[in-house]
Amino acid sequence: MKIGFIGLGIMGKPMAANLLKAGHTVVVYDVIKENMEQMVKYGAIKGESAKAIAGECKMMITVLPNSPHVKTVVMGKDGILEGASAGSILVDMSSIAPLASQEIYAACAEKGVEMLDAPVSGGEPKAVDGTLSIMAGGKKEVFEQVYDILMTMGNSAVYCGEIGAGNTTKLANQIIVALNIAAVSEAFMLSTKAGVDPEKVFDAIKGGLAGSTVMNAKIPMIMERNFKPGFKIDLHIKDLNNALDTGHEIGVPLPLTASVMEMLQKLHADGHGQEDHSAIAKYYEKTADVCVKAKGGIQE
Ligand code: NAD
Repeated sequence: MKIGFIGLGIMGKPMAANLLKAGHTVVVYDVIKENMEQMVKYGAIKGESAKAIAGECKMMITVLPNSPHVKTVVMGKDGILEGASAGSILVDMSSIAPLASQEIYAACAEKGVEMLDAPVSGGEPKAVDGTLSIMAGGKKEVFEQVYDILMTMGNSAVYCGEIGAGNTTKLANQIIVALNIAAVSEAFMLSTKAGVDPEKVFDAIKGGLAGSTVMNAKIPMIMERNFKPGFKIDLHIKDLNNALDTGHEIGVPLPLTASVMEMLQKLHADGHGQEDHSAIAKYYEKTADVCVKAKGGIQE
């Protein structure tokens, strides 16, 4: 199938590469030219604009930072809706506000374009392996139509409900991940300051109830002082902002999310916005003047 792919960042590039590996023709577009050229080396076709891509592909995938970017690419000048014909399908795999997905869906519907919101979880390593977890909202029959294509990028794709349900599910995911990193950071700050080697703490507790995918992925990075993203602090601020806004709109208090949001804001103000969200550990380390690294491990 000929698929248009817009947004070739940390996630978009490997996801588009997996579509190419599965034998699809992929026409790519990104505002950063080097990102497109990199994908052309893998066999993608360079697109001129979102509008031009929509004119030649019946299916489009977007993997962009946040709601305003998706609105621009879909509804803006030279955007998808200027080029798309009725019956084409847009799968937005960005993590954006559920209400924005509903707004974009309504604009698509006016042109007879189908749309799913289908954000992902798993980060860059799983995008590379094609083992992302995909959570989708929209019409069930449209989800079923694109299911096989989604499964070339992920190892699970779950239909969560009407449009916006994918992003609501993703907000739940992002709350759990942020709070889990904060909990792990708080606990390791305590044990390190108390003099226990963090590597020993990790070995001792990872198989018990405190163990988690988040701890397995992030504690080795923290102990090695490797904060290369991954998932950037600034993107997690965006997600928690969307979670808090959504919560406030529907009357749901999110006290722990609000606390971690303030930690992220402090990290952003201190210049860590482009680092991996495992740098939440740095917030705690500063408060207690401690560095969570394995004894005799790699120096910062
Ligand atoms: P990124 O910043 O690395 O990539 C975004 C890309 O979009 C960039 O290449 C940028 O140039 C492009 N872009 C921005 N505006 C554009 C426009 N108007 N037209 C065309 N291209 C445009 O971000 P990422 O880490 O790849 O994340 C993308 C989305 O996936 C975000 O919503 C993020 O929350 C979500 N996500 C990321 C991860 C992760 O680990 N990085 C994991 C799960 C979900």
